[in-house]
Amino acid sequence: MKLPLAYYGAPILRKKCKRVDKINDELRQLIHDMEETMMSLDGIGIAAPQVHHDLALFLVRVPKETESGEPEEEQTMVFINPKILEHSEEHWFRGEGCLSIPKVYGTVERPLRIKVEATDLNGSQFVHEYSDLEARAIMHENDHINGVLFIDRVQGKERQELDSALRAIKKKYAK
Ligand code: ZN
Repeated sequence: MKLPLAYYGAPILRKKCKRVDKINDELRQLIHDMEETMMSLDGIGIAAPQVHHDLALFLVRVPKETESGEPEEEQTMVFINPKILEHSEEHWFRGEGCLSIPKVYGTVERPLRIKVEATDLNGSQFVHEYSDLEARAIMHENDHINGVLFIDRVQGKERQELDSALRAIKKKYAK
């Protein structure tokens, strides 16, 4: 089932989310619905607060290429109670957008590589290293569960230029 999104201005997007303490059928259903929602909107990641759930949980699904440049079947990665353990000194800039902030894009500086600890769908803890777009998507989603949005990381004049679009979104979706 596709879930209704929380849009910029919704208080849940500014909360530090609670830890998941039980992986049960209800949580598995939520994850399934989050995946459906993300894919129907062509997103490469989605965090629980974006679908109105106060939980430290997100999914990432980044398109990949094989070494010969063919598109590879991507896998949805599930991160429950994630923690970024390490990040590289090396940073890079790239434009980001967000399902909760439609049609707004801005340049964000992030580390190139990270090491993440999280729990998977089976309740097993894992530690894994990620780089490039995958690392960026994970950090973007990890920000969500800490109440941080990518627009908070857009700097200077570029950030100022987003103001009117952000005000319009807030007004459109305010209840
Ligand atoms: Zn987002």
